[in-house]
Amino acid sequence: MPQLIDAFARKFYYLRLSVTDVCNFRCTYCLPNGYRPHGSNNNSFLSLDEIWRLTHAFADLGTEKVRLTGGEPSLRRDFCDIIAAVRSHTQISTLAVTTNGYRLERDIASWREAGLTALNVSVDSLDSRQFKLITGQDKFRQVMAGIDAAFAAGFSQVKVNTVLMRNINDIHLDGFLAWIKTRPIQLRFIELMETGDGGELFRSRHVSGEVLRRQLIPMGWQLQPRGRTDGPAQVFRHPDYQGEIGLIMPYAKDFCAGCNRLRVSAMGDLHLCLFGEDGIPLRDLLADDDGLEQLKARISGGLQLKKQTHFLHQGNTGATPNLSFIGG
Ligand code: SAM
Ligand code: SF4
Repeated sequence: MPQLIDAFARKFYYLRLSVTDVCNFRCTYCLPNGYRPHGSNNNSFLSLDEIWRLTHAFADLGTEKVRLTGGEPSLRRDFCDIIAAVRSHTQISTLAVTTNGYRLERDIASWREAGLTALNVSVDSLDSRQFKLITGQDKFRQVMAGIDAAFAAGFSQVKVNTVLMRNINDIHLDGFLAWIKTRPIQLRFIELMETGDGGELFRSRHVSGEVLRRQLIPMGWQLQPRGRTDGPAQVFRHPDYQGEIGLIMPYAKDFCAGCNRLRVSAMGDLHLCLFGEDGIPLRDLLADDDGLEQLKARISGGLQLKKQTHFLHQGNTGATPNLSFIGG
């Protein structure tokens, strides 16, 4: 099986594919003023056929795991068809979605039937009022019911993404731990990342995941080994809890050394890093099946340009105005 390997011998098994920029939430750290179409993005997002061809090329190049993200991916009316199209490539054994949870309760059973194998839901607070303040949507109960519906539909674990923010949710670790005591939820605290639009929030709210790690270890939480296609989370388990804790610390030393993912935006540009510069356009090769070999060559050739690390420490957030733009 051909492999995607970069100049630093990192192997890439994992594609994060944004299927739309559009979002119906207004998370303070992402789209505080709501979704606005980008100047250059007036064209439509990748079609179902284009997504099938794109993931065909990645599957041929050794991709085993795909995550559908956005914007809010479940706003696509053809979302079930997208799931089925990606899973039609048998090499892709893991297909995940990251969602704000707004459509979960209604649709999760049909997503699973179409071939979805893993689910991440974003929940930044377990307090419905605070949830509304952060997301701009009064949907806490709906999202919680969606998580229950995912278990009922047969998912044995649900991952929950929580963006860690100073004096907003870092002070509620006890409540989060109580929530996962009897639920098989992997609760992943993601350090707030600085984006082009989010400098001020970053300066006032960023807190290191290290602060949580220092509380978890004395409580008996133990760090687990990392699997090949796993994301960058440090995962902790505790014998008294059904749930797990994940810490995602993009500012930690050597974070980029374990990078195993590539990204494609909803407009079909290959992004080598969430915080890199402009993407490499692939869309011109997605119009028909004849472009497959050229597409694979452009993807593996482009990968050689991937830098060793991001430059967030120098305050350089790349060309990313917010994470909905190329899919967080
Ligand atoms: N709309 C979906 C959702 O919110 O789950 C998928 C797209 S969203 C951009 C993907 C993930 O990125 C979410 O878990 C969100 O919390 C996270 N995210 C967005 N902006 C972020 C930031 N500035 N720092 C850290 N995480 C961020
Ligand atoms: Fe929308 Fe997700 Fe960004 Fe929140 S984090 S505004 S739900 S894309």
